[in-house]
Amino acid sequence: MISVAIDGPAGAGKSTISKIVAKELGFIYVDTGALYRAIGLYVLNKGLDTKSAEQVDSCLPEVKVELKFVEGVQHVFLNDVDVSDDIRTAPVSMAASNVSAIPKVREFLFNLQRSFAKTDNVVMDGRDIGTVVLPNADLKIFLTASPEDRAKRRYDEMIAKGQDVVFADVLEDLKQRDYNDSHREIAPLKPADDSVLVDTTGNTLEQSVELLVNTVRTKLKLK
Ligand code: C5P
Repeated sequence: MISVAIDGPAGAGKSTISKIVAKELGFIYVDTGALYRAIGLYVLNKGLDTKSAEQVDSCLPEVKVELKFVEGVQHVFLNDVDVSDDIRTAPVSMAASNVSAIPKVREFLFNLQRSFAKTDNVVMDGRDIGTVVLPNADLKIFLTASPEDRAKRRYDEMIAKGQDVVFADVLEDLKQRDYNDSHREIAPLKPADDSVLVDTTGNTLEQSVELLVNTVRTKLKLK
């Protein structure tokens, strides 16, 4: 099986770009952030504190998270309910970042993530795929861009979905998440030593996709 690990901070375009790259290569695309988001959503809905390891740990036995692929598109199920849309809100983003710093949560999702790479060729994106989940991935990419560029993309996406947001808040949330994700003790966001760094600052989506597809083809020696 071939695996491509794509890590990087929020809003670097990982999911959009990884999806297209996976399609080009005929691999499945696994968005691991969705798993942390599903747990964040569950904890929020229960009215518990997403930063409290004690509270989060205690509800993990009640949680079943699954990824299903419907016509090649990933759907996330939380206790048999499709929550693919519900997990894409600002409060859930922050909740995901909070619960993801809790060791039992990472342990809980570890085998599920690895299982995909055992049965399929994958493009998997997240924060620790190249460093922890798939340390033997055939290719590791660290995708990044300036915080302003990333916040702008996130802001445009949210506005396009009709969400009522202010750019300064999106930038602030993103910086907070970057800080949380790269300073936590367990599996912090950082480039794997053997990763290829791809910076998409100033690029259009088309340029970033081309850059990444070319990088993948060259490194994996595909035509
Ligand atoms: O990628 P996305 O923004 O959907 O991820 C949501 C949150 O889940 C991140 O801010 C991060 O805290 C966490 N995450 C993680 N490890 C991963 C993927 C996501 O800690 N592999």
